[in-house]
Amino acid sequence: MLLGKVIIKGEMELKTGLHIGASKETMKIGGIDSPVVRDPITDFPYIPGSSLKGKMRSLLERLLNKALVEVSKSPEIKIHVCSDKDCEICRLFGSSTKEGNIPSRVIVRDLQLTDASQKDLENIDTGLKYTEWKFENVIDRITAQASPRQIERVPAGSKFDFEIIYTIENKEQVEEDLGNIKKCTELLQDDYLGGQGSRGYGKVEFANTKVTVKKIEYYLEGKEEAKKEFDEIGDAIEFIKQDEDN
Ligand SMILES: [Zn+2]
Repeated sequence: MLLGKVIIKGEMELKTGLHIGASKETMKIGGIDSPVVRDPITDFPYIPGSSLKGKMRSLLERLLNKALVEVSKSPEIKIHVCSDKDCEICRLFGSSTKEGNIPSRVIVRDLQLTDASQKDLENIDTGLKYTEWKFENVIDRITAQASPRQIERVPAGSKFDFEIIYTIENKEQVEEDLGNIKKCTELLQDDYLGGQGSRGYGKVEFANTKVTVKKIEYYLEGKEEAKKEFDEIGDAIEFIKQDEDN
């Protein structure tokens, strides 16, 4: 049952260069070895919401020590999926098994560069549009041969607007769910986003976070008092729980 939405918005700053790779099909001829994803219209690099969501999921899987299932052999990808609709991971991020689907309560929008960062990147001179590149000696896992590769990155200091939307379906689980989202973002700051994390890429920091709660009455009846913005997730949880007592 839809009981409302929680919209978590703010800025994510890159403390080190970020590489989120584009698929081979989008590579331009004569381009560098490993390009980043870009918006096809503006050409600005962006962060796919699925990249951030997938990283949050895997961090929470490890934190809660959940059993992993191999979903791909080469490259080896293991994630946690189960059919328990009350599972903290699957109810938050969704799951699809033979027993059925659990819809995701979390939506992560694509992250676009802030207006200020777009302006900054228009003026850099690196030979690439809005980005920089770095040589890395990548070791081939099969032949053990080192080959230098040009890796494209979004420069440190760039800021992106982020938006995470949580659907309230069960008030008993709101505190745990929002708490888990917060833990994911805290863990991510001490981990990395994107590729080449072991080489120091992808350190991020969240800032200016605002949490807006829109209860079902806001959508149904346009009640302004059913919508409220908070600085802290804890205060948002209190507000969601409030009308349980009424
Ligand atoms: Zn599960």
